Amino acid sequence: MKKNQLFKTRCTLLIAIAILYSCSSDDYGVANSTPASFLVSIGTLTENSATIFWTAAVDADGDTVRYAVNLDGTEVTSEISGLTYSFVGLTAATDFTGTVVASDGKGGNTSAAFSFTSAAATSAVSYDITSILSKFDGIEAVSYSVSGNTVTFTTTDLPNHTSPYWDTSNSLYEAYNGTNSNWNQNPNSIEEQNITFTMTLNPAEATTKSATPLGPIGISRNGIVFFNQYAGPNNQPLTNEINSFDQWLGHPNGRALYHYHIAPTFLIDSFGEEAFLGLLSDGFPVYGPLENGAIITNADLDDFHGHTSATEDFPEGIYHYHITNEDPYLNGNGFFGTAGTITN
Ligand SMILES: [Zn+2]
Ligand SMILES: [Zn+2]
Repeated sequence: MKKNQLFKTRCTLLIAIAILYSCSSDDYGVANSTPASFLVSIGTLTENSATIFWTAAVDADGDTVRYAVNLDGTEVTSEISGLTYSFVGLTAATDFTGTVVASDGKGGNTSAAFSFTSAAATSAVSYDITSILSKFDGIEAVSYSVSGNTVTFTTTDLPNHTSPYWDTSNSLYEAYNGTNSNWNQNPNSIEEQNITFTMTLNPAEATTKSATPLGPIGISRNGIVFFNQYAGPNNQPLTNEINSFDQWLGHPNGRALYHYHIAPTFLIDSFGEEAFLGLLSDGFPVYGPLENGAIITNADLDDFHGHTSATEDFPEGIYHYHITNEDPYLNGNGFFGTAGTITN
């Protein structure tokens, strides 16, 4: 009797285990194994992308394993069979966390966590224009001083060349002898100014570009200020104003402030058509209308009227503006870099 009872008890236990077992079984009546645990590793990180890799989550039942990837709580891909994923469009220098979820298609899921930090934003290329400062040495109108990585120019803005805008008593007075048959002298004259530019010696492309203002936007190598391509507010073209440009293509405004809007032919005659002509207040240099013996046209330049290439003064290459013989002459949509301060 005892033996019989023991047998019965054993049978009851076995049946109970079988019932329990069947509760965790799939439709085929066989227990499903979830994919094995796996590891995620981090590959290349840039300021806006990241690549992750993971080991295969082997499924003991031989089920095909697919993966889903979540980043910061959002599923970014699913049902992939590969063992890598690349995130794009990320924000620089930011912490991210996520999971890779391996699924066997039968309800078995295994997840592995990862985290990474995107790379810091790379700063724009910056240049060093210190070597160009000597071009301003010995220029009567100009003095300059360096402080840290900035330079401050002070100019009297008095031209070192002839003009019909000088007082007739001045030795540099010269009646108009240019080639413009529509020449028409404006009522202004040349008087001494006190204009300062403080600008960086390490110009770099600005993330957000700013339009050039009316008035001085840069300093040419004889101390005369550059103006932009407009005659006045609301982008008035130079069309009529050009007729008041003297034989060196400059003229004074109503404040007796002499300036160049277009190619300063005195400087080009003095230094050549490929020469350095001055600086805009963002610290980037201005060159003449020729490069490597070829005329530069607007088509060679970007929207700001510049490009990057080697120049005589910067053989390693630098961003620079060109004065061309067509509108907008010197500058287009604004400063490529960040303008310094100008007082006048
Ligand atoms: Zn003007
Ligand atoms: Zn160039």
